[in-house]
Amino acid sequence: MSRVWNFSAGPAALPEAVLTQVRDEMLDWHGCGMSVMEMSHRGKEFATIIETAEADLRELLAVPQHYKVLFLQGGATQLFSQIPLNLAAGRSADYLVTGSWSKKAVEEARRVAPIAGPARLAGSTAVKGALADGFTRLLRDEEISLDPGAAFLHLCTNETIYGVEVQDDCAALAARAGSVPLVADMSSHILSRQVDVSRYGVIYAGAQKNIGPSGLVLCIVREDLLGKAVSTMPSIMDFRLMAENGSMINTPPTFGIYVSGLVFQWLKRQGGVAAMEQVNIRKAEMLYRCIDESGGFYRNPVETTSRSRMNVPFTLQDTALDAVFLAEARDAGLVSLKGHKTVGGMRASIYNAMPEAGVTALVDFMRQFAKVHG
Ligand SMILES: *Cc1c(COP(=O)(O)O)cnc(C)c1O
Repeated sequence: MSRVWNFSAGPAALPEAVLTQVRDEMLDWHGCGMSVMEMSHRGKEFATIIETAEADLRELLAVPQHYKVLFLQGGATQLFSQIPLNLAAGRSADYLVTGSWSKKAVEEARRVAPIAGPARLAGSTAVKGALADGFTRLLRDEEISLDPGAAFLHLCTNETIYGVEVQDDCAALAARAGSVPLVADMSSHILSRQVDVSRYGVIYAGAQKNIGPSGLVLCIVREDLLGKAVSTMPSIMDFRLMAENGSMINTPPTFGIYVSGLVFQWLKRQGGVAAMEQVNIRKAEMLYRCIDESGGFYRNPVETTSRSRMNVPFTLQDTALDAVFLAEARDAGLVSLKGHKTVGGMRASIYNAMPEAGVTALVDFMRQFAKVHG
């Protein structure tokens, strides 16, 4: 067996220790004689699994008591419409656009605007006429105009495709928004850095980037935001009903919750989010230094103060070398480095599960490649 260094943006690499544990427990979970996939979601075994997962997540993120943790399905994309339907219910909501995910969020909100209420653009870094909108930075204060009466203010705190990440845990924005709750799509960096959950009304994250398998989306909601849904809301989409039913109005994504729970335990063994953050800072510094010191051979277009620690897009000066780079990287055991189709070039996603050794291997390869082809 040979495992590769997998730089996929999502579904992404999982900690090897977690995969091994899943394998070991696959046929017989803790002596119950069956796999987690085969057990009732209403049984006492699964109750232990979901309760432990929630408790560990609460501990890792220091989630205050007055927040509910929901384990939902439909991905982050479903939440793009589910959130305005739950929170706005006819009132206007504000949106910041700094990349393709926050742009998709506002587009989805507009689809349900006739019932959920208008989605207003409160600021955007899209460059008029630029290919794929040319997102390369966070918004500056003066580019943001907030509606003090908005039902919420939505943003994406890490733009997975463009590699643009909020650096200050929304401290300044939350202060400015005042009583308007922040709603943050943290899909691609949740648990990679410390956050103050109390700054946010809702935090949500698709699991397949930095948590576990796809099919699960985490949603952390402040309790006072429950019960505001449109009256025609299907029960399965209603945050309040989901919270009241322990995320089990219907069958939840049991296997995804189980694996995510193992990832939470793994994170605790690594020393928790603060310790992960230090590792992630070192990994990102190593990779950006390699790019910046390549004399233009490699280039990352994002403003230094907006650069993501998780998703590092970069281009080669000579795009004719793109295919050669990917093929030689593959031969060196470094895979899924092809950039997103909208931006081209390369992208290395270096989530929690990517060890420092993987980034070292990538950087060594990149230096060697530049030497040979530069
Ligand atoms: C991947 C991603 C999404 C979409 O997630 P799905 O689970 O595929 O719907 C949304 N937002 C961000 C920031 C992402 O990285």
